[in-house]
Amino acid sequence: MSAPALPDVPTTLLIGGSWRPAAGGATFPVDNPATGQALIEVADAGVPDALDAIRAAADAQQALAALSPAQRAALLRRVEAALRDRTDEIALLITLEMGKPIAESRGEVGYAADFFGWFADEALRIGGDYRLAPTGLTRILVQHKAVGPCLLITPWNFPLAMGARKIAPAIAAGCPSVLKPAEQTPLTSLLLARIIEESGAPPGAVNVLTTSRPAEAVGAVIDSGLARKLSFTGSTEVGKLLLARCAAQVMRTSMELGGNAPFIVCADADLDEAVEGALLAKMRNIGQACTAANRFIVAESLAGEFTSRLAKRMGALTVAAGWLDGSQVGPLIDDAAVEKFDRLVRDALDRGATVETGAVPAIGRFVTPTVLSGVAPGTALLDEEIFGPLAPITTFRAEEEAVRAANGTPYGLVSYVYTRDLRRALRLVGSLATGMVGVNSGVVSNAAAPFGGVKQSGLGREGGFEGIAEYLDTTYAAIPV
Ligand code: ADP
Repeated sequence: MSAPALPDVPTTLLIGGSWRPAAGGATFPVDNPATGQALIEVADAGVPDALDAIRAAADAQQALAALSPAQRAALLRRVEAALRDRTDEIALLITLEMGKPIAESRGEVGYAADFFGWFADEALRIGGDYRLAPTGLTRILVQHKAVGPCLLITPWNFPLAMGARKIAPAIAAGCPSVLKPAEQTPLTSLLLARIIEESGAPPGAVNVLTTSRPAEAVGAVIDSGLARKLSFTGSTEVGKLLLARCAAQVMRTSMELGGNAPFIVCADADLDEAVEGALLAKMRNIGQACTAANRFIVAESLAGEFTSRLAKRMGALTVAAGWLDGSQVGPLIDDAAVEKFDRLVRDALDRGATVETGAVPAIGRFVTPTVLSGVAPGTALLDEEIFGPLAPITTFRAEEEAVRAANGTPYGLVSYVYTRDLRRALRLVGSLATGMVGVNSGVVSNAAAPFGGVKQSGLGREGGFEGIAEYLDTTYAAIPV
């Protein structure tokens, strides 16, 4: 299979405004998941590079603070415009290193640009407040200031948007950062950094560390004491390790961790809309999203019809390399992801699940969209984050039963609810232990909304009015009247 040519991308580290190789010249390969072949080599940062990067960020704090809110907003607007102008080139890069269909990569570029637009406005609205102490003798002046140098760690599934969702509010708040992209998808972050640099960011405002040894490089940045904040998107397992490490420095943290999203279809749901929403919530990003519907919990009266319609739609999707016309399902990110998909399907079948579509052997990293019904409690795919195009269907009779099943997980990122009854919808929004709910909607991501989870799905919110607060500290001044 021959892939289109790789767009022009930087392959070295960006530290303090200079593009440079890793100390000692180490590099590591980046794969095209559709072909399994290397696209290019990028710099493999070690501890000395990591320390240089966080020092460069700390050194840039003054220059960034010297920009007025309007100047920071204008910088973010220029980045937004450049992303939109260069959609084709960036989308191809995302597809080549991550695998998703090009139409979805284009959508991701738009979504990422939205964050720069949203936080350009937010840069202008950083407020504070003023009050009088109850005695009437002291003025209390509350001000919000940049938290300081930030370490931003992103996953491979949305290589552009996850970086955008962190860098845009950091710049808006006046925080310099070190971006550490996932080792599977460093190229998009390098291109984003170049675009931010070309848009006029002060040197050192954004630094990029690509590395195949994340634990070492990240550990060095955290232990340096120079980073004041970590924003991490990735697995709950790694998130817990990083929280513990950050505790030693009493760092601020934002954690976007794993999910196990329930997709509840009530007996009064509009079936057409529910199937459409299910397809979106399950298949976006080849199922490799923390917001992906992980468990379908369907009213018994509708389950047969819902299952056969969903199976028909999922079975008709075109599985092909993301750059090919008509591709709707690209490859999984790596061999480990394919092995996990196969393991989860086998386990469900061993426990008596019925194949409605799919469940055929993978070809390379391409797996077939699969729907399984009659999935018994205790089956691994109900407890683990699937991260692939696999839809297990379970049923319920009473609403409380659906809520109990939905909440019966250590995660609480997003839930989906399909019903035509407004009161039921609001009741479910209230009783589901989750950070976000899609009500008759298979998509919740929006730059204007606070994205994030409860329980072991994370801490803090990204986007919305809440997003910038994660990058701000509070200083209050007591001023006698
Ligand atoms: P996933 O399972 O989606 O790959 P990970 O949590 O492993 O999620 O990875 C998310 C991000 O965390 C990536 O940028 C990865 O390089 C980084 N990462 C993985 N392990 C560690 C670690 N031990 N310390 C610091 N960062 C890590």
